[in-house]
Amino acid sequence: MLKDKVALVTGSTSGIGLGIAKALAHAGAKVMLNGLGDVDDIEVMRASLEAESGAKIGFHGANLMHVGEIEELVAQTQDQLGDVDILINSAGIQFVSKIEEFPVDKWDAIIAINLNAAFHTTRLVLPSMKARHWGRIINIASAHSLVASPFKSAYVAAKHGIAGLTKTAALEVAQDGVTVNAISPGYVLTPLVEAQIPDTAQARGITEEEVKRDVLLAAQPTKEFVTTDQIAQACLFLCGPGSASINGSNISMDGGWTAQ
Ligand code: NAD
Repeated sequence: MLKDKVALVTGSTSGIGLGIAKALAHAGAKVMLNGLGDVDDIEVMRASLEAESGAKIGFHGANLMHVGEIEELVAQTQDQLGDVDILINSAGIQFVSKIEEFPVDKWDAIIAINLNAAFHTTRLVLPSMKARHWGRIINIASAHSLVASPFKSAYVAAKHGIAGLTKTAALEVAQDGVTVNAISPGYVLTPLVEAQIPDTAQARGITEEEVKRDVLLAAQPTKEFVTTDQIAQACLFLCGPGSASINGSNISMDGGWTAQ
């Protein structure tokens, strides 16, 4: 379905981004992976995805905290694979703390990675998308782009910000064959969520099992974690035929959390 399309997926060495990258590759797209992690492990992952999908897969380890590295990431994607047709902004981090104790460097990092990086990748890929009159930009936001939870000030601020960026970009490119949408998952059991369970337990003074049951899934009426595969399928739909009128949407995939 996506043969000859070029996809750049930030934060695709783990979790949701990796799931989306795999789905795009299996649909035929050439994919540039990005993210942090052990370089040898990532190379094994890159090579196996290339072998099993038959699509060309690249990797660039740009740290999205740094604008210059984001510019290199986009330039190298263009050099190695071609102009970017599909941009998925999935990289993200979390930190859980009361506002008055929130480390300033953590605030800055969350805003840089979860929000600013999406602005930079978007501004860098839009000219070639507009010139070729086709493009798909999908921002992996969060239920926290629509509602808040205590102790997640930077994350909630960044996610509400990316919802606004999504809508603004969508309006700017509405007549250029490009769509810009957000997908807002509820809780997905990835390393990002697993890592915040001990901190949430500490901040709320409860056990880790209680965090899963009474905090994470308490908000999700289905009482099920969202899966990376479900999110990847939504991305494939947004990249496929029939999606041209879905523009500026923030698609909730949260088991009904934000319907309450
Ligand atoms: P994850 O921790 O499994 O993956 C995060 C990815 O981002 C990794 O590849 C990591 O290397 C990359 N990354 C982190 N810092 C980076 C940096 N400075 N530069 C480059 N890459 C960096 O997390 P995930 O759960 O897959 O989250 C992916 C996205 O989905 C995030 O934006 C997150 O906010 C969002 N999200 C996650 C959930 C959830 O429950 N897991 C729910 C809603 C939204």
